[in-house]
This record gives sequence, C-alpha cells and structure tokens, in this order.
Amino acid sequence: MPKILPFELTSKFSNYEEYNAYAVFQHPISYPKSELVACTICKRTVNHKMRVKYGFCAYKNCLEEEVQCPFRTKLCICLKHRDRNLHKHYLYSLENLT
Ligand SMILES: [Zn+2]
Ligand SMILES: [Zn+2]
Repeated sequence: MPKILPFELTSKFSNYEEYNAYAVFQHPISYPKSELVACTICKRTVNHKMRVKYGFCAYKNCLEEEVQCPFRTKLCICLKHRDRNLHKHYLYSLENLT
C-alpha cells in the first residue's frame, strides 16, 4: 500500500502549453514513476483517467548542494481530452519531511 503523503497543490495549468511555459524556467524534474488513476482534478463525477507522475528535482547542483527544491513533486495530468495540448496539469509538491 502506498503511503498518503501531504502533497500541497502548487500550481494549476489549463493546458500543456501553459504548463510547459512554466516548466522551462524550473529545474528539470525526473519522473521515474507514474500511474493511471481515476481523474480527481475535475469536479464533477467523471469517468476518465488521470496520469499521476511522481518526481524529484534532477538539477545537478541541487543534488550536490542539497538545496531548496521540494522534496518530492507530483504532477497530475487530466486525460479527459484526447489532444495532449488540452490536458490540464496540476502540480503538487512535498516539502522536506525533516
Ligand atoms: Zn532543484
Ligand atoms: Zn479530468
């Protein structure tokens, strides 16, 4: 059983382009793990999936200097639309637990 971690919603993006415009100015994030679950981004009862990706900062200096990036990142992508460019992206982060 996966543990429930206290992720906090950091940013919402209404499509991929918006997300990408944000992400290019951030540290690169590595997402080694992802899963498909029922969408929880959309408010109404819906029957489509959402991709959840779990990641961490992959920026070399952060690894070396143990600086300030969130401990873990979670990216939820609503797959309601077939067009990738219309996917809503919700970004969550988890601060250091120590
Ligand atoms: Zn970083
Ligand atoms: Zn959705």
